[in-house]
Amino acid sequence: MITIGVLDLQGGVREHLHLLSQISNVRALSVKKKEDFNNLDGLILPGGESTTISKLLNIFELKDIIINLNKEEIPIWGTCAGMILLAKEIAGTSTSHLNLMDIKVKRNAYGNQLASFKSKKVIPKISKKELPLVFIRAPYITNKNKKVKTLLKLDGKIVAAEQDNLLATAFHPELTTDLRVHKYFVNKVKAD
Ligand code: GLN
Repeated sequence: MITIGVLDLQGGVREHLHLLSQISNVRALSVKKKEDFNNLDGLILPGGESTTISKLLNIFELKDIIINLNKEEIPIWGTCAGMILLAKEIAGTSTSHLNLMDIKVKRNAYGNQLASFKSKKVIPKISKKELPLVFIRAPYITNKNKKVKTLLKLDGKIVAAEQDNLLATAFHPELTTDLRVHKYFVNKVKAD
């Protein structure tokens, strides 16, 4: 049995827990208190509002705990706002949040008209068949260094990537009924 925590400060927590609960040999926990982070095998940073989640991470003194999980090579997956939290650089600002992944992201990168949209694409490393992709006020990755592997580009923009034990998706697999991206993350955790 492996234990995966979903950071429960703000945003789409229940949706992740619901999908994880359908995968065998996975115990899914919502985590928000410092002690909740003991004995995790993997952590998901959900979508929501990155500035709000970041403020709450500071208030509850959780940033160093998450940074330490990364040092211990515990896999961490950020979806949407979670991807922004992982990034070392955020376009238009000199601040970053967890500062873990060698990517630069642009927030709300699809503008107002395209603020939310759906698509379908194959992510070869995850599945040979198309996956449903849901974007909500999504960021994309504008720059990355060599350590970061692109998993998916949409219209030339990187929307899924990984760097060692870090996984980032600009879209929300938890808002679909498709378990493949969650299973991919679970396999990363098992391989760890
Ligand atoms: N636009 C949000 C942010 O900047 C992210 C949106 C989301 O997570 N769906 O934090």
